Amino acid sequence: MFRAPELPGPSQGQLDSGKAELLRSLGSRVLFDDEISEDYRSDDSRILGEKPLAVVLAESSSDIETALTIAKAHKIPVVPRAGGSGRTGGAVPLCRGIVLATAGMSELHELDGREGFVRVGPGARLSEVQAAVEREGWFYPPDPNSAELCCIAGNVAENAAGPRAFKYGATRDYVLGIETILPGGQKFFAGRKTRKGVTGYDVVSLLVGSEGTLAAFGDVTLKLIPKPEEVLTLAATFPSLSHALGAVGALVQAQVPARCLEFLDEKTLAVMRQSGVPLAPSAEALLIIEVDGSEAECEHQAERILGICEQCRAIEVQVALLATARAQLWDARKQMSRAVRARARHKISEDVVVPRRELLRLVDCVRELGDKYSIDALSYGHAGDGNLHVNFLWNDPEEETKVAAAVRELFVTTLSLGGTLSGEHGIGLLKAEFLPLEHPRPLLDLEQRIKATFDPLGIMNPGKIFPSEPGGRTGHGAC
Ligand SMILES: Cc1cc2nc3c(=O)[nH]c(=O)nc-3n(C[C@H](O)[C@H](O)[C@H](O)COP(=O)(O)OP(=O)(O)OC[C@H]3O[C@@H](n4cnc5c(N)ncnc54)[C@H](O)[C@@H]3O)c2cc1C
Repeated sequence: MFRAPELPGPSQGQLDSGKAELLRSLGSRVLFDDEISEDYRSDDSRILGEKPLAVVLAESSSDIETALTIAKAHKIPVVPRAGGSGRTGGAVPLCRGIVLATAGMSELHELDGREGFVRVGPGARLSEVQAAVEREGWFYPPDPNSAELCCIAGNVAENAAGPRAFKYGATRDYVLGIETILPGGQKFFAGRKTRKGVTGYDVVSLLVGSEGTLAAFGDVTLKLIPKPEEVLTLAATFPSLSHALGAVGALVQAQVPARCLEFLDEKTLAVMRQSGVPLAPSAEALLIIEVDGSEAECEHQAERILGICEQCRAIEVQVALLATARAQLWDARKQMSRAVRARARHKISEDVVVPRRELLRLVDCVRELGDKYSIDALSYGHAGDGNLHVNFLWNDPEEETKVAAAVRELFVTTLSLGGTLSGEHGIGLLKAEFLPLEHPRPLLDLEQRIKATFDPLGIMNPGKIFPSEPGGRTGHGAC
């Protein structure tokens, strides 16, 4: 665990009066002092924040309203929290305040099979939402690999996405409406429950990806699509990274309607082999390609993929015909993040995106940074979207300065290739100091004014997204 930088917090008087009112209004639905477990100080970023004054275990949107009314009255910061699986420290409190835990609001309220939408509580587990709608013949495509851990509110706040984004897009493409609660407790429904709609500003799109800095979310209404009839998964091995990424380019150019196009480099391939996935010994890179649709459509697309991969000098293309083979492949891919973490004591995982034609230059940059700074560096991920998880691993705390330099160079190279700093994990705490590399000053100023309109007192998740001081550091350097 790394320690988060501490932000100035409320005075003792504000904390005491806020605490008394929370206790009076929410009773047993609020935790204080020793009742608060360490979990509420961190998330999957492994950054340790401040011990909260209180953890509100919200059971309904009126609990959220109450917490945000009290927070505003006593000027106490609020950190909304759902599954706590975020990777950039979004749910880490940086000063004494309220953690607003919404994971308990996990109900699936309404599945409208005529209109094709589902309304769920902010704490609904993604895997449970996916399973529930599929039982009714519907499909909710966003599939971050943390589906068992994360909740819908966290997905919305981060605009989460996974392998299927290549064909189906990210969370934002499925959010129709959000029950929105502002600091101060005003509640309203933003959005719609119809397939189309153009009224006023698109506030829903603004809330998606806002990382808990604008408002808290209650129920979320999500668009569904019909569940595909069949799915076919292929695993293609290549003699080099450049051959594999050449195949990515060829598949994209041929407009193969794959739903996933995942890339794994030679180091992550070794992890796949350790998980029992049979892969050609000479392979240095792997593509996992998945198509869906009718049986005939899947077979037709599989033929095309086979042909393209062969032209790109694939060593072997396996079709995972059996459900067990498919599950083994995806399990190993989904466990990759955890498995990679086991390679060293410390890991930092970035999720940069570049235009797909620049993927090879990105992968080369990662290798060069590993060599230059003598650190373990690897990359894998959603090549179809140009979005790779770049991991740096190290054991000795003295290597942190080198890692910080490698991360900065990675970001600078990503931007010089026409890319963006984050494809799905958001900015949070860890990348806040780098946002000015990508967003010009006038845009940052506009974003700050938008934030101030929602949250004039600056109590919603302070220290996230924006650098805490001009050109200042917010914690990434600590890694
Ligand atoms: C093993 C693993 C694999 C992962 N793979 C992926 C992946 O493939 N794709 C991907 O996109 N991400 C991935 N992640 C990251 C993470 O799971 C996602 O960012 C996820 O969306 C976070 O959801 P959560 O419910 O855990 O949110 P939390 O971590 O609790 O919070 C995330 C952010 O949402 C805000 N928030 C939470 N609840 C609310 C609310 N009610 N109202 C307003 N704001 C709120 C928080 O303040 C915070 O800023 C992975 C994480 C792990 C641990």
